[in-house]
Amino acid sequence: MTLRRDPITGRWIVNTEQAEQPQKAQALKEAETCPFCEGSEALTPAEIFALRPNESKPDSPGWEVRVVPSFSPALRIEGELHRRGELMYDLMNAVGAHEIVVETPEHIGNLSDLELAQIEKVVKTYALRIADLKKDERFRSVVVFKNYGGDIVRHSHSQIIATPVTPQNLKGELSGSREYYDYKERCIYCDIIKQEIKQSKRIVFEDESFIGIAPFSSRFPYEVWLLPKKHSFAFETIGEKEVSSLAVALKSILKKLQ
Ligand SMILES: [Zn+2]
Ligand SMILES: [Zn+2]
Repeated sequence: MTLRRDPITGRWIVNTEQAEQPQKAQALKEAETCPFCEGSEALTPAEIFALRPNESKPDSPGWEVRVVPSFSPALRIEGELHRRGELMYDLMNAVGAHEIVVETPEHIGNLSDLELAQIEKVVKTYALRIADLKKDERFRSVVVFKNYGGDIVRHSHSQIIATPVTPQNLKGELSGSREYYDYKERCIYCDIIKQEIKQSKRIVFEDESFIGIAPFSSRFPYEVWLLPKKHSFAFETIGEKEVSSLAVALKSILKKLQ
């Protein structure tokens, strides 16, 4: 597997040559036991991390949130990047992390149906995993994402991908914020928050710590941005109060979307 740069747009694409991956996913689809339920730990690859309040053994029951490698990873954790060229083209080995965050030991399909205390644990797990992946100098970006519907396993989970390249969208956000700052000497996100509160037209959630807005230039219907009100730039530095607030925001926004 390699990461190849599109010479025109600059976008990096994962190039897979392995055919066994769709089969693996298919086998998972047909399996009768849910691999994410408590008690089925042997059905997943060895865990990377788990919240285990009673210090139970890895890959055994007794966890609250569990992180395992993806069954069909887009990227591999081992190895060197080996950046290289092929005449005018650029490529490197597809090194990265692709993890699954199992959000509850119970067989529940949606994050919004979990108790607030459980959603807080999921948010804390994101922060811990991001902090850990950031220590790996090969990586330039860590993204947490979640698919809704069409998932192979219907047990609430999200995914984390760490890549050795910065995704195009993120690059655009970074350079746009930088340009705004160079011109105005103010943070663009802080300015957006101030204006949205003043206009009060697009707010879908607000409390002391977070604001949720339907962005002025949405890319798709029902897009929501959740922004911390306090100027901050690193998710993993999130405090206790913000964790609770984010859990409430996620639950209420996802419920509304449903
Ligand atoms: Zn399950
Ligand atoms: Zn700011």
